[in-house]
Amino acid sequence: MRAWKHQIAGLTTALIATHANAVSLEFDFTYDTSGFFTQADALASLNAAGALFESRLQDSLAGIVPAAGESFEVRFSRPDTGVLSGVERSIAADTLVIYVGARELGGALGEGGPGGFSASSFGGGDLSASLPPLRGQTGPDFGPWGGAMTFDASADWYFGADAAGLGGGQSDFYSVALHEIAHVLGVGTSATWGSWVSGGEFSGPAVQAVAGGPVALTDDGGHFAEGTLSLVMGISQEAALDPNLTTGTRKHLTDLDWAALEDIGWEVAPVPLPAALWLLAAPLFGLTVWRRS
Ligand SMILES: [Zn+2]
Repeated sequence: MRAWKHQIAGLTTALIATHANAVSLEFDFTYDTSGFFTQADALASLNAAGALFESRLQDSLAGIVPAAGESFEVRFSRPDTGVLSGVERSIAADTLVIYVGARELGGALGEGGPGGFSASSFGGGDLSASLPPLRGQTGPDFGPWGGAMTFDASADWYFGADAAGLGGGQSDFYSVALHEIAHVLGVGTSATWGSWVSGGEFSGPAVQAVAGGPVALTDDGGHFAEGTLSLVMGISQEAALDPNLTTGTRKHLTDLDWAALEDIGWEVAPVPLPAALWLLAAPLFGLTVWRRS
């Protein structure tokens, strides 16, 4: 099994290296007051998770740049304290800002979600075209300015890039970062997500196309039901957006997780060419691994 994990990790690297970005994730460390991300391996893992989203999200997001007399204040739960906070700032075009940090979460590994905002215009200017939730997009899209996410300060984290080094009792930071970024992007946390939820199931068309029908959710409607299975490059895996992560395991974003992003309005690029080549080669790798084991 370790060899398979190596192959998937290698693939992720290839995606990041070869695909032009459209949406940039900008992590803001202002409220990382405990210095969690001064750990170089924690920062590298966070950036790897962000780069995976950047490799496939193709949306054009309007910048949020207040003119003189206008103001834009982002509102979010401070990562280090959980206290609702506001910061006046601008947001660059095609950029999502995510405030990150850590605190004691009392058993949870992470928390994340999109931020709110307050905007005002005193000089007759018009910010409305660029404001969330659309940022210049059309249709049922979700286009937040960004949001905040925080990670448990005392979990036994594994920050390594190579999942083969993950200890049985450790929690994989990369997996949790992917999960929380998806919440910031609106999975389980946005009105657009809610518009597809009915009778305890998610019925967005992209999800239905992947799963063959609506997919059951957790009671709170914010995750796929515990144990929901999908595929990562043709390999079965529990969805990244189910509610739990088993210690000692890494979860990548499955076809179902990407489909959920698509259903809430994100333009998800197809898997780029290197991945397709890898898929063709996969049966050969599989044979090799099988013979060695
Ligand atoms: Zn969650």
